[in-house]
Amino acid sequence: MPGPYRIGIVGSGVAGATSAYLLAREGHRVTLLERAGTLGPVGAGVLLQCSGQEVLRRLGILDSVIAHAARLDELHARHLSGSDLIRTRYGELEPGCQAYGVHRGVLCNALFSLVRTQTVDVCLKSEVIAREDSPGGVSLTDQGGRRHGPFDLVVVADGSRSQLRKAFGFRASVHEYAHGTLWITAPCVAVQRELLQVVRGNAKMLGMLPLGDGLCSMYWGLPVVEFPRLKAQGLASLKAEILRFSPEAAGVLDFVCDFEQLLLTSYRHVSMRRRHDDRIIFIGDAAHAMSPHLGQGINLAMVDAWRLAESLRDAPTPLAAFRAFSRRQREYLRYYATVTYLLSPFFQSDWSILGWGRDLALPWLPVIPWVKRQMLLTVTGQKGGFFQGRMTV
Ligand SMILES: Cc1cc2nc3c(=O)[nH]c(=O)nc-3n(C[C@H](O)[C@H](O)[C@H](O)COP(=O)(O)OP(=O)(O)OC[C@H]3O[C@@H](n4cnc5c(N)ncnc54)[C@H](O)[C@@H]3O)c2cc1C
Repeated sequence: MPGPYRIGIVGSGVAGATSAYLLAREGHRVTLLERAGTLGPVGAGVLLQCSGQEVLRRLGILDSVIAHAARLDELHARHLSGSDLIRTRYGELEPGCQAYGVHRGVLCNALFSLVRTQTVDVCLKSEVIAREDSPGGVSLTDQGGRRHGPFDLVVVADGSRSQLRKAFGFRASVHEYAHGTLWITAPCVAVQRELLQVVRGNAKMLGMLPLGDGLCSMYWGLPVVEFPRLKAQGLASLKAEILRFSPEAAGVLDFVCDFEQLLLTSYRHVSMRRRHDDRIIFIGDAAHAMSPHLGQGINLAMVDAWRLAESLRDAPTPLAAFRAFSRRQREYLRYYATVTYLLSPFFQSDWSILGWGRDLALPWLPVIPWVKRQMLLTVTGQKGGFFQGRMTV
């Protein structure tokens, strides 16, 4: 094995924490830089797909994560009228195939516990703002003026709003979606064994994602600019509309007594033509953030971390590893980025004609067995690329 390297990792989200553990376990000297003051359980419910489950299984923490997650047998979308739009049953790919709804905090806590088993220098309150290259490596400077490094290589996993793409001299195209979600996590067990989405065309959408431990994440899709108007109309009016969409949401709505409990989230699509130079590489949402409509974000982030660690083990230099990693991930990421980008407006946008088209076509697509299998491989996070079959971690 080449190295050991001195490695700086920026960001302790899913991609950064997974990388920190794997790379420290390989014997590298890892420094994890995080701008937050604590490694805390923040975030909403996320979908843990088969690809993400496989990484967690190999990390040895799948069982402890799913002990606090809700097993999902299907993705169920129905119209406001009550008729089904589509039911995607995981078990139709193969017996035993399932997803899990899990709070991002549960996943992050499990990953941080792993990080603590290794010798990782964790630097909190360290918001990285600049890099400095020298023959001895790359040094990073944080907002407090502290210098970290030099490092032989730096893994940047600072999320979809990454400031470091620009600061480190990389170009990215960032598309901000006009639609986002209001979401809340609350005690509720009204929906079981499925992710339930209730839609009216592509203009309105209510989602209920069971999370385990008796919790559920509820999200309400809306154009981001409409939020002030919605707030002005008052909570009672919003609750009444949500209840019209889904009586199952009653338990969560009982928990909501203030607009401030509802968090507005917008999303963006990020693409970078070049994700690395000879010493720095971007992974996770920083490199390829997508809308959440295919529910792949944490899964892609973990697969990135896994494959980067493998590439560093096998290649003679960091640059050779970055190149091997990029080659290996290219078709997989291109597929998920393109499909998510193309599909998102069919689920949330102002173009109602796309919603009609979706309502007409979507129920018929799974009738063709080959298409159904591709759809299942895609949602489970296992489609290797446009012309590839199943991806294995
Ligand atoms: C509404 C919504 C719903 C979603 N639903 C799903 C879903 O169902 N399934 C799914 O898989 N994914 C989902 N996602 C996406 C998922 O949350 C992300 O894809 C995933 O968290 C990406 O992990 P990451 O480690 O790349 O980035 P992040 O989790 O964003 O972590 C970035 C970290 O970097 C830190 N940081 C940022 N800048 C700096 C800096 N300069 N210096 C130091 N630290 C820094 C941040 O504090 C943070 O800890 C959803 C996203 C949204 C917005």
